[in-house]
Amino acid sequence: MAREAEGPKCDFCGRPGTQVPLVESPLRPVRICLDCVQHIHEAAQKELRRSRRLRGWQMPKTSPAEIKAHLDAYIVGQESAKRKIAIAVYNHYRRIDALLNAPKEASEKLPVRVEKSNVLLIGPTGTGKTLMARTVAELLQVPFAIADATTLTEAGYVGEDVENVLLRLLQVAEYDVESAQIGIVYIDEVDKIARRSESPSLTRDVGGEGVQQALLKLLEGTVANVPPKGGRKHPEQSFIPVNTEHILFICGGAFEGLDRIIARRLSRQTVGFRRGGPQSDSPENLYAYVLPEDLRRFGLIPEFIGRLPVIAVTEPLTEEALLQILTEPRNALLKQYQQLLAWDGIELHFTEGALRAIAQSALGLGTGARGLRALMERVLEEVLYTRPAGQKIEFTEAEVRVRLDLLRMAS
Ligand code: ADP
Repeated sequence: MAREAEGPKCDFCGRPGTQVPLVESPLRPVRICLDCVQHIHEAAQKELRRSRRLRGWQMPKTSPAEIKAHLDAYIVGQESAKRKIAIAVYNHYRRIDALLNAPKEASEKLPVRVEKSNVLLIGPTGTGKTLMARTVAELLQVPFAIADATTLTEAGYVGEDVENVLLRLLQVAEYDVESAQIGIVYIDEVDKIARRSESPSLTRDVGGEGVQQALLKLLEGTVANVPPKGGRKHPEQSFIPVNTEHILFICGGAFEGLDRIIARRLSRQTVGFRRGGPQSDSPENLYAYVLPEDLRRFGLIPEFIGRLPVIAVTEPLTEEALLQILTEPRNALLKQYQQLLAWDGIELHFTEGALRAIAQSALGLGTGARGLRALMERVLEEVLYTRPAGQKIEFTEAEVRVRLDLLRMAS
């Protein structure tokens, strides 16, 4: 045959056996080169991962209570926020499941259109907002990305286009669009894109209202064109269309000053305030009473608020909570350092007083649990450096205080 006269070729890419090593099928006279084998292997692996991810998600066997229980293993306190998140996340994925996995005719006949509910998480820095969003994504095995609202600007201005929020999600999903489309995006610092003044501005508000408008489209569900390399959009660039209809957006922020707005409203509603509102004998977290109108006064536009119907509030962490965070969660910092040192044969212990001293210092820093790591690093620096193998090391309160006082002097 003419074909054989030219010598055997790869039946996939057509290159001759003289250029690439070929493998012949034992059953039929077909050949494939090793390059194509490699290529097919990679494509198959990717497809397998994708279908596993989708299958894993398609039939979530979790209930809201199970989602909450999972959050409990990683997040200390924040009971109300964890409950709200568990309900919202469950409803979100239930809705997707009904829309995507029901037979087409059935889903078209659904009597009620259940709208997407994104979540607004309000609370001081370092109280577990991001951790909650990440933990839920891990449980559901969906891609998760974090974006910072302050880096975004309205299209056409210096800064990042809002579509870059989706680029991170795509990257995490290894550019598998289908998988990214059921992911979770945490947008941090949304309070920083509040309108500067309560009344709609006459001048353009590039960093605030404009960004809210741009984000609004993603939140309500749209097909966004994502520039695959990020940065600004260029006309000559090809885009990846990503449908945000099933992406869960969790927006977070500290909303400093919102408590004063809430207090003002509550004091106007004096009757309700005294009965159902905060009691004067406990240091109340006024944020728990937030209503959409307070957010509007803070500077969020009504349409944006409307797309965040679930509002959850995280509490400032007490000394007790910080102490628990150090020791109790599945990935508690103390457990991490103990493991790290155990690999070198070092047994690490802290007395209760020593841990409390660290929690108190973290409280003083005012950055929630964020300060704990830096403090632990400082206390353990010497041990982490010298690695005195085969030893049992115990830190007492006095030792911790000495080391932390040094920290204060140095900073
Ligand atoms: P936020 O998003 O509220 O600013 P993060 O979720 O990023 O704060 O928290 C920073 C770190 O502090 C987390 O990675 C976690 O280690 C720890 N942390 C904060 N809050 C909690 C909490 N309630 N329970 C357990 N760890 C927490």
